[in-house]
Formats: sequence, C-alpha cells, structure tokens
Amino acid sequence: MVKAVVGVNWGDEGKGKITDMLAKEADIIVRFQGGANAGHTIVNDCGKFALHTLPSGCFYGHTTSIIGNGVALNIPILFQEIQSIVERGVPMPKILVSDRAQMVMPYHVLFDQYEEERLGGKSFGSTKSGIAPFYSDKYAKIGFQVSELFDEELLKEKVVRVCETKNVLLEHLYHKPLLDPAELLETLHQYREMVEPYICDVSSYLWNAIREGKEILLEGQLGTLKDPDHGIYPMVTSSSTLAAYGAIGAGLPPYAIEKVVVVCKAYSSAVGAGAFVSEIFGDEADELRRRGGDGGEYGATTGRPRRMGWFDCVASRYGCRLQGATDVAFTVLDVLGYLDEIPVCVGYEIDGEVTTDFPVTSKLNRAKPVLKTLPGWKTDIHGIRNYEELPENCRKYIEFVEEQIGFPITMVSNGPGREDIIYR
Ligand code: GDP
Repeated sequence: MVKAVVGVNWGDEGKGKITDMLAKEADIIVRFQGGANAGHTIVNDCGKFALHTLPSGCFYGHTTSIIGNGVALNIPILFQEIQSIVERGVPMPKILVSDRAQMVMPYHVLFDQYEEERLGGKSFGSTKSGIAPFYSDKYAKIGFQVSELFDEELLKEKVVRVCETKNVLLEHLYHKPLLDPAELLETLHQYREMVEPYICDVSSYLWNAIREGKEILLEGQLGTLKDPDHGIYPMVTSSSTLAAYGAIGAGLPPYAIEKVVVVCKAYSSAVGAGAFVSEIFGDEADELRRRGGDGGEYGATTGRPRRMGWFDCVASRYGCRLQGATDVAFTVLDVLGYLDEIPVCVGYEIDGEVTTDFPVTSKLNRAKPVLKTLPGWKTDIHGIRNYEELPENCRKYIEFVEEQIGFPITMVSNGPGREDIIYR
C-alpha cells in the first residue's frame, strides 16, 4: 500500500512528526519533491532533529529512505545530514538515490542569493537554497541528472555549455565572479564519488516493492498553498507539493497511491511573503508564535519567525480537496489550550462579497477574513490518548473544523512526540 503524507496549507503543519510516526509500520519512505529549502522537525527516542533532505522515516532500522527523481538533490547537504544524525547515535539509515534525480549545483545556490539581492524589497523571501534556479534549469533541460555523472564525455561538453549561459548573467546582470568549467567538472566528480554507492533505479524498485506488498510512504514538503499551479502563485515553491505529484516524483502509477494523509495544523503559520488572509499581528501573534509548535514557530531551515494566524477553513478545505485527502491529521492542537476564545476564519470577504471558495491570487490579495469565535478549553490536553477524554470545547473545535473542511479528521496530534496521537 502506498500512502502520501502531505501538507494542507503553507507547510510546517507537522508532516515530519506524522511521517516519523507512520514510518513505524512502513518499509520504505520516499521524498518526491523539493529540496533542502524546508525542514521537518522530529522528536523521538534519539532526540530532536531538523531534517531537510532525508525522509523523516530514517530513524528506524527497518526502513529504506529514498530520494526520488522529483527531488532537488543537494549532495553535500544530504551527506552532512546523514553524518549529523549518525554522530548523534542514530543507526546509519539505508538510503537509495534515484538515478533520475537531478542535482542542485553550487551555482544554483549563488543564483538564488544574487536574484534575491537584486530584487531587494520585491524578493520572494527565498530560503536561498537554490531551489528556483534548480527547477528552472531542470525544465530548461540544462540540469545535471545523477545518471549523467557516469558519462564523462557528456559532462565535459555540458559544463562548458552551462557555464557559457550562466556567465553571461553573472557578468552582465549580477556583476559577480564567473564560473570555471574545469572547477565545475571537478565538483561533479566529487558528487559522483559520494553518491555512487546509493544509486538505484527507484521506479523499478518501488514497482517491485508494491508487488511484494510493502508499505510505502511518500513524504511531501511544504503544502498545497505553495504548489506552483494551485497555490498562491508567484509566492510558491518551484515543485509540486501535491500528493498527485508523488506518482511522478517517485515514479509510481498514479492509482498506486491509495491513501492521502493530509497534515493540517490547528492554527495557521506561514513563512515567506504572500497572501495570508487569517494572519494576526502584534502581541496576539507573538504569544501564539512563542507557544506554537515545539519550542516556538521559527523556521527549521532559516530560524526566521513564522507569520501566525487563526485556522483558515477556506484555505484548508481547498488544501484538502487539491491533495485528495482520505485522512486528515489535525496537529498542534495542544498549543491552543491557553486561549479563552479561539477565532476561526470561515469565509473571505472580497469586494464586499463573502465567499468560501479559495480564489486566485489577485482576488486573494484583497480578501479579508470573516471570523467566527469558538470557546476555548483552557486546559493542557497533552498526554490524552482517547478522543472522549478531550475537553468538550476541544472536541467541538475539532468537529467544527471537520464539518467546515469536509474531510474526516482521523488523527489528532497533541504533542510533538511519536506517541502524542489520538486516533478517531
Ligand atoms: P513539517 O515541515 O510539516 O514537518 O513541520 P515542522 O517540523 O516545520 O513544524 C512542526 C513543529 O511542530 C515541529 O517543531 C514539531 O516538533 C512540532 N509538532 C508537531 N506536531 C505537534 C503537536 O501536535 N503538538 C506540538 N506542541 N508540537 C507539534
């Protein structure tokens, strides 16, 4: 059975925790999109970890962790990450890297920085991990695929060709040091040496695994609203964040994905620029940020304070629908236990009219939240394992959200640990 674990909103919903938890029963965990630009925080028996590239199931001895073809593979970062967890006592994870994955090159990271610098105040708020330049090159067909590392003639010719076009921009647009094809070739040789032992024909591996009845998890990064097609374009990421893309980014038949577990946080947070209708500010936001997540809502990659807001039913219903949710994991609910009353965004007012349909970006930018206030439960729900033991107002909050989004909340997460979960 193949399950996808994906985000409903802007990311940071707690996918890492849910994947780590579901990985207990899984054989294979696959990353299918994105790169080292977002982080997953995982708290388990070995400690607290921020992962950027490794799948969140890599802490168990029984799982195989796969970097799928859809990923923006930064080889040095992957190896640093493996080293950092092994140094902290985690057994060496079993890792496979798709021979069709493409690699983030050092110049992708530089171009990301230079472009954000050039845009100044109009920048995208990129994490500067090279993701947008990487995917641009992939689709412009000048990326480097892992398999190409073993064709020396091709590499020699391609580094020259790539440097020609990159150097025009470096010289005339960015006024930065130029790339040297010989140095680039040397970098690719180093990458070849590092990645060679892990290379795998992943789609074939997964096809066989499905036929053998293995449990496979596809782990998404970010969430629906960051999808380049269905999100808040252009304030999106550069690869699809949808479960459907899991089929492409891992190399699976689309019908193989039988379950789509969407992770949805009990309030909202976002990093980077872009419309965020239910956003809150000032002391109200500061307090939620400080209490949020596990140790505050700050980016796992950048440490940036996240933007905070109330739960957004409009965005979440849309997010669940585009993901094709079969199960909703409702997370970080414990954090709301301090509030007397909890506002929830139930509609958007756009040009004097209220809608519950998530609009395109130009309209979204004019949307104002329509809030409904629910009573708080004013207790610490951490440690509760049975749904019926949750305070009544807490259950009412969950049930209200479930009705609004129209998809079943089958899991409620009330703490960062693996065991902090209530199944319904
Ligand atoms: P991801 O990118 O979707 O994996 O999310 P992040 O790791 O960026 O953010 C989720 C944060 O919330 C992490 O610090 C988790 O440890 C934490 N977390 C996840 N689930 C819960 C929960 O139910 N309660 C609390 N308090 N923290 C949680």
